[in-house]
Amino acid sequence: MSAAIRFKLNGIFIDILSNALLKKITRMSLFKTLESKSENPNDIFSGTPVEHVKCLIIGSGPAGYTAAIYAARANLKPLLFKGIQPGGQLTTTTEVENFPGYPEGITGPKMMEDLDQQAARYGTDIRWGIATAVDFSQTPHKVIIDEKQLFTADTVIIATGATARYLGLESEEKYKGSGVSACATCDGFFYRGMDVAVVGGGDTACEEAIYLAGMCKKVYLIVRKDYLRASRIMQQRVMEIPNIEVLFERVTKELRGNQVVEEVVLIKRQGQPDEAEEVVKIDGFFLAIGHNPNSEIFKPYLDTDETGYIKTIPGTSKTNIPGIFACGDVQDKVYRQAVTAAGSGCQAAIDAERYLSHR
Ligand code: NAP
Repeated sequence: MSAAIRFKLNGIFIDILSNALLKKITRMSLFKTLESKSENPNDIFSGTPVEHVKCLIIGSGPAGYTAAIYAARANLKPLLFKGIQPGGQLTTTTEVENFPGYPEGITGPKMMEDLDQQAARYGTDIRWGIATAVDFSQTPHKVIIDEKQLFTADTVIIATGATARYLGLESEEKYKGSGVSACATCDGFFYRGMDVAVVGGGDTACEEAIYLAGMCKKVYLIVRKDYLRASRIMQQRVMEIPNIEVLFERVTKELRGNQVVEEVVLIKRQGQPDEAEEVVKIDGFFLAIGHNPNSEIFKPYLDTDETGYIKTIPGTSKTNIPGIFACGDVQDKVYRQAVTAAGSGCQAAIDAERYLSHR
């Protein structure tokens, strides 16, 4: 994590890994894990554990931290690894206005810092580290951190969240870090006074467009349908901001430019008799089209749905393996809110505590 970029916002320090770096680390981790597995799947798990804990929590968004607060208060002495995006997705969001208890709203990074302190106050051991492989085939459960350290745990709470989705265009890949970003809060600063585009029609896209409108000259919101999926209040805000232009019924064909993004080619009303190609000059291209659950390393053991979300027994955080619990966005594709993630983190800690006391 030493490669994280640290900056100060509203008086607090935030560590952010650039999207390009995140992707590189993800690929690197996955590659190494698969590589190790292909030689001898058990090798990486056969060493002496660094430590055994009652409760190991993977992930540091609202779900992971809430699980930690409850587990620590239940005397489970939880060990929490912050994961690939310390603080989770809320560190990339601006104002959180819908978390109960903050009448004036709160910034995502500040809320995460508060949760970190609250979890630590009750005795959570919070460490930097990324879970790169697991073995849930027997107890105690095994978790490899940073590809080298083996931990064993009686219970594991998975709170790994979800990661931004990309369109999958060749040109998008080419310009990642050179005009293409999936995080306006992280990278918007670089486009001050410039023209940018945001793709997507949900709350995230609207939020990113509003944020960028505050610093960029012009923001194009590229929406594939003829309406926004976002909540009414977000739609209203977008429509009221003069330097946001919503381009409905546009599909992104490609990005073009010399070294960096200079223009986006859109197809207007694709498949219709009046289909037309148009080119919009931009300096930055922001993705806001949803997320994929971070469940890859758990898939050999845990039941997931067709899109990779970990399946839990309805009304609980229990997975198909006793002692393994999942909470937050990695198991929730319906609500995906900070407050629902926090609620499910609470459930996971209570489920873990009950599992241990019944054992
Ligand atoms: P989302 O609601 O799933 O919206 C994704 C958007 O991206 C949709 O408009 C979708 O278009 C579009 N999209 C998906 N694939 C695309 C593609 N290949 N090309 C072009 N467009 C594509 O995701 P989200 O906005 O990230 O929100 C996720 C959840 O978090 C939601 O429940 C949302 O309410 C919540 N959220 C809340 C807040 C807040 O309250 N402050 C902020 C952010 C997010 P279609 O509509 O055509 O499918």
